[in-house]
Amino acid sequence: MTGIDELPVRDELRGKSPYGAPQLDVPVRLNTNENPYPLPEPLVERIAERVRDAARNLNRYPDRDAVQLRTELAKYLTTTGHHPLGVENVWAANGSNEVIQQLLQTFGGPGRTALGFEPSYSMHALIARGTGTGWISGPRGADFTIDLPAAERAIAEHKPDVVFITTPNNPTGNAVPPETVLALYEAAQAAKPSMVVVDEAYIEFSHGDSLLPLLEGRPHLVVSRTMSKAFGAAGLRLGYLAADPAVVDAVQLVRLPYHLSAVTQATALAALEHTDTLLGYVEQLKAERDRLVAELRAIGYEVTESDANFVQFGRFEDTHGAWRRILDKGVLVRDNGVPGWLRVTAGTPEENDAFLDAVRDLKKELD
Ligand code: PMP
Repeated sequence: MTGIDELPVRDELRGKSPYGAPQLDVPVRLNTNENPYPLPEPLVERIAERVRDAARNLNRYPDRDAVQLRTELAKYLTTTGHHPLGVENVWAANGSNEVIQQLLQTFGGPGRTALGFEPSYSMHALIARGTGTGWISGPRGADFTIDLPAAERAIAEHKPDVVFITTPNNPTGNAVPPETVLALYEAAQAAKPSMVVVDEAYIEFSHGDSLLPLLEGRPHLVVSRTMSKAFGAAGLRLGYLAADPAVVDAVQLVRLPYHLSAVTQATALAALEHTDTLLGYVEQLKAERDRLVAELRAIGYEVTESDANFVQFGRFEDTHGAWRRILDKGVLVRDNGVPGWLRVTAGTPEENDAFLDAVRDLKKELD
């Protein structure tokens, strides 16, 4: 058997492991920030109908520019984001991971760098590596907020080509205030100018508003979004971005032709027809998230403020040991490698009760 190390793989990939949370068969899985609610039956039927229609044309390549889908996404953003956007402002791909990959292929790459404020979504750094972009780990304060003077200094010092701001942040859950994003955008323009990518994967769960209105007059700003969380469609693989039309034109230079299958486009269009129902589930999840925060604090855990569909809690001396003990009680949470802290995704009320029972027991065992 040939091992990876015997292949002439790129030096920066040697000895690395693929990204991915453990996919374990456990009764309660609260580890990947998925939406716990299956799609409603009328939507499932609508998807079947639209996919049936699409299947009749599968001998042809799909709409390469996904115009209808981008138009509907623009309408969704305009309605919910309080900022008018058209098809020319929106681009879609297979998950926001692919959106981020296309952005780094376009604006990063060999000889260029990207900076993110860590701990944050670790795929930003991994996609940077995969695209040959240098990665710079920017600072966060002890409370996981972005310390603005330190962040501005990091941008001025490293002059990155791309700056990532994840809000609400994963895995910590807290949102970045709009004033901070604006100041970082200004710092990035003064330093380079760089592209600033605001990753809003969890924005629908936030107490605050989307940063979409900041796009006005800021051609180097990009907001990335996904249907994996609020739309409950992680299996669909549909991410999208909103930006100046020039950014949409630029990412076309790296996108693979026909990257978004006709089946994907049909399914996403069906889901967008059911936006109101799906956003109703988001409201339930926000209430459950707030309950998790309150109950975890009542049990005696420290909790980071959450604007997402998950909650970071701690602190643990032996973080991985605590993760394992919760798993032994039948509940899978996430150890993101943040020392002292674990992350739990808001599930159904029953799943959250099971989780709270498990961590209540754990607390007694640890005290
Ligand atoms: N951004 C953030 C902050 C995330 O947490 C995730 C998913 N965990 C993504 C992007 C990627 O989501 P997807 O590729 O499913 O759209």
